[in-house]
Amino acid sequence: MDVVVIGGGFGGLTCALALAKAGRSVLVLEQGNVLGGAFQSFRRRGQLMDTGFHYVGGVGEGEVMRPLIRFFGLENLPWQPLDDPFLDVFLKGHRYALHRGYDHFVDALAAEFPEDSHALRELVGLMREINEHIYESVLPGTTVQSNTLMAVSAKTYLETHISSPELRDVLCGQCFTTELTDELPLYSFLQSLNSFIQGAYRLKGGGDVLVNRLVEQIEAMGGRILTGKAVSRFEISDDGRITAVICEDGDTFAADTFISTLHPALTTDLIPECPQVRGIYRRRMHRLENTVGMFTVQLALKPGAVPYRNRNVAILENDDLWHASCGKDDKISNLLVHYNIPDNGAFATNIDLLTPMDWDSVREWEESKLGHRPDGYKAFKQQRAEECIALAQRYIPDLQGNIEQYWTSTPLTYRDYTSIPNGSSFGVRKSCNNLIGTVISPQTPFPNLFLAGQSLMLHGMLGTAMTSVKTCNLICGWNLLDGSC
Ligand SMILES: Cc1cc2nc3c(=O)[nH]c(=O)nc-3n(C[C@H](O)[C@H](O)[C@H](O)COP(=O)(O)OP(=O)(O)OC[C@H]3O[C@@H](n4cnc5c(N)ncnc54)[C@H](O)[C@@H]3O)c2cc1C
Repeated sequence: MDVVVIGGGFGGLTCALALAKAGRSVLVLEQGNVLGGAFQSFRRRGQLMDTGFHYVGGVGEGEVMRPLIRFFGLENLPWQPLDDPFLDVFLKGHRYALHRGYDHFVDALAAEFPEDSHALRELVGLMREINEHIYESVLPGTTVQSNTLMAVSAKTYLETHISSPELRDVLCGQCFTTELTDELPLYSFLQSLNSFIQGAYRLKGGGDVLVNRLVEQIEAMGGRILTGKAVSRFEISDDGRITAVICEDGDTFAADTFISTLHPALTTDLIPECPQVRGIYRRRMHRLENTVGMFTVQLALKPGAVPYRNRNVAILENDDLWHASCGKDDKISNLLVHYNIPDNGAFATNIDLLTPMDWDSVREWEESKLGHRPDGYKAFKQQRAEECIALAQRYIPDLQGNIEQYWTSTPLTYRDYTSIPNGSSFGVRKSCNNLIGTVISPQTPFPNLFLAGQSLMLHGMLGTAMTSVKTCNLICGWNLLDGSC
């Protein structure tokens, strides 16, 4: 076997496909019984629901993610462009809209905030620049850190360039769920906004469709994928190379090269005591701070009652979005409302409500496992769900009386499905003040062990796919996206 990939989430599957396309024999080992990690879908009462795949930006021809969509064979999927505007932002009772296309985006916001029209154009100028150079960071020898906008705080930039506090908040409507902190790099903020302004998309069938398409291609190229294989440790030779991985069930898989797409702290835990990995490396990986997790309420709606909206809705009621509390005793004040594409018809069948939630909110139940949670946890989830629903109903009155049933998930749920520390939604938190410490290299103390996955560079579909290409480029020694060296 040439390469063993640990983790069958989007990062692991894209690494496996990239290497299979480069002629390597690949084996993916996934601990769960279902592939996809945070991109897996599931069914409730026959309805398809998603965990961590809702909508993505820049999928269309000429848009920022298109080279990756093409490379990973994801073009001919039922992508559905959202309407223009793609996002309604309700800010303290007023509705603002984020529009598709750079000019339209600026013009619509400048009409509401004329004093900031120049600043909006400058912001779009930065996005165009990011867009033009984004793939440079997948080349061997370069890193996303080299972009100067990584070292700039998004919050400070907005506060110094945009005079209207309301406009600053409206611009956060797109990405408040990914966590807004004082140290969030401007690059991370803008690359995400840029992709959605170019074109925001849902996928009919959700994350499962993506995962199945990747799996079909990997298997068609002779790659193997095994589920129910939790890797518990690496085997290391005397000359300091990884020789095999050993799974919890005792199965051992040898290979020339290994990629771990797990959170870096989890990967470190797989490495036995050895001279290559010193305590300082282990401590550094364990001390990495993570983005907060998410509380999700999945609503099943009465048939034919709630009109389907082909756009998302951000409800922002918190006075300070950059320090929005998402702890156990905080009132829920920010919500993303996501409509899943109905099988047919103009009416929504299910809607997700998402709001950031920190680990402290669920810490007291951290010893409990899926399916065996205590009553206190269940009561907590119910109370939070009712708050989310009440907030959503204030802005979307159609929901009143039309919710048949709902299900919830917390950071504990995500931790138990994917093992991500503290149920973090987007992995390692990036800091514009500490890029060396928070942007993780794909290389490790072992010459044949590489890292990939959302925690390294950028998260989400775009960031995780870019990271996979970067890691595989390093292994192959050329740029897989265009064949250049
Ligand atoms: C609530 C939520 C909403 C989101 N919404 C969006 C969105 O709308 N658009 C978007 O682009 N992104 C979204 N994201 C982010 C996106 O889901 C992630 O960035 C992406 O799925 C990360 O993929 P990954 O492969 O790096 O990690 P994961 O999906 O976590 O995959 C890691 C895999 O490794 C497996 N694993 C762990 N330990 C072991 C082991 N010891 N042995 C074997 N396997 C192991 C896990 O089971 C898992 O399958 C969202 C995330 C969340 C949580």
